[in-house]
Amino acid sequence: MSPVLSEFERAIERGLFRVPECTECGAAVWPLSEFCSVCLGVVRLGPGYGDGSRRLRGRIVECSMEIPSGRFTGSSSSSVRRSFFCLVAFECGIRLIARLAAPVPPAPGDLVVLSSCGLSPEGSGYIFEVSTPDAPEDPASPTNM
Ligand SMILES: [Zn+2]
Repeated sequence: MSPVLSEFERAIERGLFRVPECTECGAAVWPLSEFCSVCLGVVRLGPGYGDGSRRLRGRIVECSMEIPSGRFTGSSSSSVRRSFFCLVAFECGIRLIARLAAPVPPAPGDLVVLSSCGLSPEGSGYIFEVSTPDAPEDPASPTNM
């Protein structure tokens, strides 16, 4: 595993999404790679998002499907909101599939913010969650592990 990848995974394990950036041209590099896909410059990790101190904003590109309730372990909260998988174009220039909990499906162009991230339980990838910025911040975050 490359140093930048292990550093990235250590951060996302703690719920921080550190955007990989090219040190030469400044492009956000995703999927994460040691070298920039544009200019082959060295990639470093930028500031982290996801702990609430900084907000990474994006817009819904498309909403693909609704996740059946009960599929996620540990989500036995009182919330009756539904979950959707969305393709989100973030302001830093990268696109991610993220989960959105909302009462109704989002529309393309809707503004969202990255609210949390982490490693998937199977260890096969990353989990990203977004929320709509209009909604009040959830004081009881369900991500206590
Ligand atoms: Zn570059």
